[in-house]
Amino acid sequence: MKYKSLNSYLKEKYGRKIYKIAINAGFTCPNRDGSLDNRGCIFCSGEGSGEFAGSRTQSITEQIESGKKRILSKMPADISGPSFIAYFQAFTNTYAPVEVLREKYTEAINHPDIAILSIATRPDCLEKNVLSLLDEMNHIKPVWVELGLQTIHKESADYIRRGYDLNVYEEAVRNLRNINIEVITHVILGLPGETRDQMLHTVDYVGKSKVQGIKLQLLHVIRGTDLEKEYNAGKFECMTLDEYVNLIYDCLKILPDDMVIHRMTGDGDKRTLVAPMWSANKKNVLNTLNRRIAE
Ligand code: SF4
Repeated sequence: MKYKSLNSYLKEKYGRKIYKIAINAGFTCPNRDGSLDNRGCIFCSGEGSGEFAGSRTQSITEQIESGKKRILSKMPADISGPSFIAYFQAFTNTYAPVEVLREKYTEAINHPDIAILSIATRPDCLEKNVLSLLDEMNHIKPVWVELGLQTIHKESADYIRRGYDLNVYEEAVRNLRNINIEVITHVILGLPGETRDQMLHTVDYVGKSKVQGIKLQLLHVIRGTDLEKEYNAGKFECMTLDEYVNLIYDCLKILPDDMVIHRMTGDGDKRTLVAPMWSANKKNVLNTLNRRIAE
């Protein structure tokens, strides 16, 4: 089966491989600082889903430089032009006074090796002044916004303590598309209580919601989260590798051909992973997925 991977999309656009550098800009999240809640989403670690991001004690430039060094030490790369994505990953990256955001984004976007600015955030943190700033940045270099939707089902959204309704996501997508920003939606597969059909329904909805990319992420149970307590209490089971691979196959079948698939697995931190343990062997997961997709 054919699908558009992130690598092939970037190669098509830039003529070479583009690498992602995950950044921790030192923000927080309304679901953590008490504005909405102080417990965070049920699956979220204290790192705000930024386990692989740089250190919040370093400047944006320092994080870009150490990210580059790490990538280049692992593989010889063609970096004859801007070859990196500054991925603002940890916590909610539009949740700060707009002048603070401007300073952080500008530092990243003006770095000569940065090709794209990618901002992970919540759809309920995209006020008018933030949208204007993103629009301004998007005229300097391409800006992507990554939205953590996870599910379209209200019961699951309440269970994971997402803290906003589906119409908020829809409005955010409309506003971002009005200023030509590429949107990538994050979906979690395997949320407790969701059936396979419900998960496919979410993916189908995202496919039709006029966004350009999707991240399909396996639910990870991470040590120290409230989800771990639920898991240890036997309230749900995680998917098997076979179930997951077959589900991804069906997701790819229903997504539009031009949808960029940014991810097909989770990217959990092995040191804190509680379940499912098969997901720690990422190479095996990707090989199994690729074999299934090639069938
Ligand atoms: S919105 Fe993101 S950073 Fe905030 S609690 Fe949820 S997963 Fe964590």
